[in-house]
Amino acid sequence: MYWDRRIETMERSALERLQLQRLRTTLRRVEKTVPFYQQKFKELGIASRDVRTLEDVRRLPFTTGADLRASYPKGLVAVPASRLLRLHTSSGTTGKPKALFFSRADVDNAAELMARCLTMAGVTANDILQNMMTYGLFTGALVMHYGAEKVGAMVIPAGPGNSEKQLLLMQDFRSTVLHITPSYALYFAAFLQSKGIDPRRDLAIRRAFVGAEPYTEETRRKIEKALGVQVFNSYGLSEMNGPGVAFECERQDGMHLWEDNFLMEIVDPVTGEPLPDGRKGELVLTTLRREAMPILRYRTRDITSILAKPCPCGRTHRRLSRITGRTDDMLIVRGVNIYPQQIEQVLMGIPQVGSNYLIQLEGLDEMTVKVELAEGSFDGKVERLVALQDEIAARLRAEILTKPRVELVPPGSLPVSEGKARRVVDHRKL
Ligand code: AMP
Ligand code: ZN
Repeated sequence: MYWDRRIETMERSALERLQLQRLRTTLRRVEKTVPFYQQKFKELGIASRDVRTLEDVRRLPFTTGADLRASYPKGLVAVPASRLLRLHTSSGTTGKPKALFFSRADVDNAAELMARCLTMAGVTANDILQNMMTYGLFTGALVMHYGAEKVGAMVIPAGPGNSEKQLLLMQDFRSTVLHITPSYALYFAAFLQSKGIDPRRDLAIRRAFVGAEPYTEETRRKIEKALGVQVFNSYGLSEMNGPGVAFECERQDGMHLWEDNFLMEIVDPVTGEPLPDGRKGELVLTTLRREAMPILRYRTRDITSILAKPCPCGRTHRRLSRITGRTDDMLIVRGVNIYPQQIEQVLMGIPQVGSNYLIQLEGLDEMTVKVELAEGSFDGKVERLVALQDEIAARLRAEILTKPRVELVPPGSLPVSEGKARRVVDHRKL
């Protein structure tokens, strides 16, 4: 099912022409109205007219998270204040947030892109979407909310947390679709199990849109199994409207990124040099339609690759592979580079492991991985616990090349946050 068949299946050559035209319009606008880019263009000795092909985007300056923070609170705004309709900020945990402004056209357009995503994943006006993301400054809940309403689905603005109430809403209003973070989905699945609820039998949920933080294919399968839903990977970031940037189609094999709205590049995170399709690197995005706050070559820090092969669904917009982490997520433990997702991938493939884990770094370079047991997987025999602990440590060693201490803890005992999960606590004195 398509929301906008013409755009979604547009021939590549026409799509690229549209991209170039929109890129040039964007450049002319920022050149006239945004002092930050005026300055950057001057430093680089370039002007909007120098961009004649899509490849010329490489001549443009990058924009980083630090640039956006430095422009706080005014932002890199390209329209008069009277045209601003909404403010969001990034959910970044460090330092000042980033101020992100939307005009009316931007609010409508974000909903339009979200509507494409939802329709692509099978949502119709008959659906009831329980939105379990944080409402507020964070874009996650509101952009989804507007998109779902555009499709005509009924939205339950539940917000995150309070699982008892979530369950009640699901039971009483027969929600069919959930919008949820992976960490909360796992937690909620364990909660249902502890209540003796079988979602396939007792609830109407069929699909879950899961995103806002990295998760592995193993976690997807675990959520699908435990909640009895089809999980669609949903990618977005506040700097680019929030959710609705890239989303999985019914094939669940990579996320179509809406190329009529965003120009994507994959670059080497260290040198900034472009990488070919299929190679993993940092995703860099340029907005092609944003009115209030266009952003050029934004360094997302997200690590992914472009899947250039055409998708059997018929959409021509290229797909992103699962985000495997952020350039700033990498831990160095005893000289070894480790991404938290490598640990998650191992843990979520082990049936006795429950819904949550925490990586603790202490002392000189000691790593402890605290792992929750699955409900009902401890039979009281300590020897079995020790054996499981050893097995997990050995499997982790095979993946991350260093052997952490593994500590098994009861289900539900590790902290859960209402927003994004905190997977690593680093107290090292290095
Ligand atoms: P925010 O700007 O607060 O919406 O956070 C955006 C960030 O969340 C992205 O840059 C990613 O690092 C992360 N993120 C969002 N969706 C996903 C996803 N589906 N998979 C992995 N990471 C994601
Ligand atoms: Zn597809």
